[in-house]
Amino acid sequence: MSSTASATAAELAARIEVGDPLSDEEWLVAVHEVPTDELLRLADAVRWRLHPEPVVSYVIDRNVNYSNVCSAICSFCAFYRKPGHPEGYVLPNEQIFQSVEEMFELGGSGVLMQGGLHPDLPLDYYETLLSELKRRYPSIYLHCFSPPEIINMRDVSGLPLGDVLQRLKNAGLDSIPGGGAEILVDSFRKRRATKCTGVEWLEVMETAHNLGIRSTATMMFGMGEKLEHRIEHMRMLKDVQARTGGFYAFIMWTFQPDNTPLGRAYPDRIPEDEFLRWFAVGRLYLDTIPNHQVSWLTQGLDVGRRALHGGANDLGSIMIEENVISAAGANHKATEDMLRGVIEAEGFRPVKRNAAYERLSD
Ligand code: SF4
Repeated sequence: MSSTASATAAELAARIEVGDPLSDEEWLVAVHEVPTDELLRLADAVRWRLHPEPVVSYVIDRNVNYSNVCSAICSFCAFYRKPGHPEGYVLPNEQIFQSVEEMFELGGSGVLMQGGLHPDLPLDYYETLLSELKRRYPSIYLHCFSPPEIINMRDVSGLPLGDVLQRLKNAGLDSIPGGGAEILVDSFRKRRATKCTGVEWLEVMETAHNLGIRSTATMMFGMGEKLEHRIEHMRMLKDVQARTGGFYAFIMWTFQPDNTPLGRAYPDRIPEDEFLRWFAVGRLYLDTIPNHQVSWLTQGLDVGRRALHGGANDLGSIMIEENVISAAGANHKATEDMLRGVIEAEGFRPVKRNAAYERLSD
């Protein structure tokens, strides 16, 4: 690092510390030049300002991938099967109910239900599934259907987006997972995915928030995007958050290359240090989103430990079943006892929550 860059880094760090807003260009300099430990320290201060208790939360839920049939082609995806493929499936509802019962037996509170963009399932299929889950299990928390799936429901049904979301809410939908965002900047995104555009993803979230359906927000990086795209992605989220306040958590993870077409061009995973730098910048840039979760599932528990001192107030999920990123090579596994042990070893009190970040035990 040059002395000029060091001075710039010190100045930027000092401005971040006192809450002086940085331009996007200055954030790019900061993520290049401010030392990792300093970024983590600054992000940790934001965490303590927003969450003064020494608590780290986690959730037990079940990832239900109701179908892998998908009419889109995303070069980073190892999960989907094209319509008509012999390995394509739609889970029978009875199998989903059985998964939910196992989830409750393991101390879980809800399901994260996501699938491919099925070209034939009518809106009624999703409504019936949600309402039947709520009827059978009144306490279940339904965190379901990422924006690309909701855009697909709009296209298949021919209904306005707001009507689709309202009908899902009426059927029992509690909140929307922020999956399918990856990098929202359409000039880049269109080279990687044929699913919904970044503008449509944001439109789903803003419409949902305005209907009282809250959501998480995500970023997946390390698939050949420019660093500017990562900052622009976060700015797009920040703009929606300023209007709606509807994002209750932000989660970032890195591209998992195994078994994906894109993995042949980008076979290397983002290094730990780079992930942590961006994690810290995410907490600092998106300080209007209250909860920041470190995705131990993709990054591993050692990275999770460091992130707990660099902005994270949540260690994510004991995913009872996870098919999408494990298909692409993320194979980290942990039990509830392991996660609680990690949280305690780092000096925090573990608290189980539901998908809405409401505490279930203390
Ligand atoms: S990422 Fe989602 S939309 Fe894209 S191919 Fe995979 S299942 Fe389909």
